[in-house]
Amino acid sequence: MNFKLTPSLFLIKNTPYNYCHLKRTANIISVDYETWLTTSYYRAKVNPEGSANYLEKPTSDMLELFKKYELKATFFVLGSVAKANPKLVKKIANHGHEIASHGYSHMPIGALGPGGFKKELAETNHLLEDLSQQKILGFRAPFFSLNQSNAWAIDILKECGFIYDSSIFPARTPLYGIKGAPKYPYFIDSNNLKTPSSDQSLLEFPISTFKLGPINIPFAGGIYGRFLPSFLFTNLCTHFAKEKPLNLYLHPWEFGPQNGIYPSIGWFKKLLAHYNSHAYPQKIEKVLQSLTFTSYQAWINHHGSKVNGE
Ligand SMILES: [Zn+2]
Repeated sequence: MNFKLTPSLFLIKNTPYNYCHLKRTANIISVDYETWLTTSYYRAKVNPEGSANYLEKPTSDMLELFKKYELKATFFVLGSVAKANPKLVKKIANHGHEIASHGYSHMPIGALGPGGFKKELAETNHLLEDLSQQKILGFRAPFFSLNQSNAWAIDILKECGFIYDSSIFPARTPLYGIKGAPKYPYFIDSNNLKTPSSDQSLLEFPISTFKLGPINIPFAGGIYGRFLPSFLFTNLCTHFAKEKPLNLYLHPWEFGPQNGIYPSIGWFKKLLAHYNSHAYPQKIEKVLQSLTFTSYQAWINHHGSKVNGE
């Protein structure tokens, strides 16, 4: 079953891209634009706003890499980080990348509650739209924390004018994830996050996973991407992209070694947070050499009418 987009999905304004270069099914690349200290490994240690200046080098490195491969990415920017370092957000937007929302405080959706969630969206959108001069149309929940118990967030996203979301992790992990959720882009509503909806006002882009028998195995970013050997990571990405658009995500704190700036968190958390960061940019570059990537907005404009989650 295929769904058609409502005209509202095509009314994307202030978009700086030319989509005609997307010759075949493009894949999507995004950055959760936050500091090291907003992650669960460091969260209790310091105020995340205080670490924004560490973003300068990884931001430049990412922008250079994206420029080299002539791709436009989506940056899900955390409001608190944008407030602490507005010049970097302007720089990203000036490079032609899409700016989207990662909330304000990096608190999980459930912990914010409907009122707090709505307030954070408004505050972040105001800030990001002012800095980027783009309309903010996409959202990613901190810690992929969208699930059926806080599905009210979907209604609030629609109410606030968002047209897409990429918060569903279609595999159960110890921290997050929805087992049995669709693996590919689909329209979503709050009644059942696992079933493609006939309400076509919000598109969901689940993070890509690899299906092995009954299990969905994560690989397309974060700790999974860093821990996998390079050949396996590249193969999983290219294999997935043969059939469907790959939805790949990155973080600035995974982009190159930043030795000496971390508070002490213990060896195990340190391993989880930083393993293979020194080699990760090269690993990502190998994937960029093999596949075509673009932003969510560009993908929606080009492919948006052909989604059904299958
Ligand atoms: Zn995040």
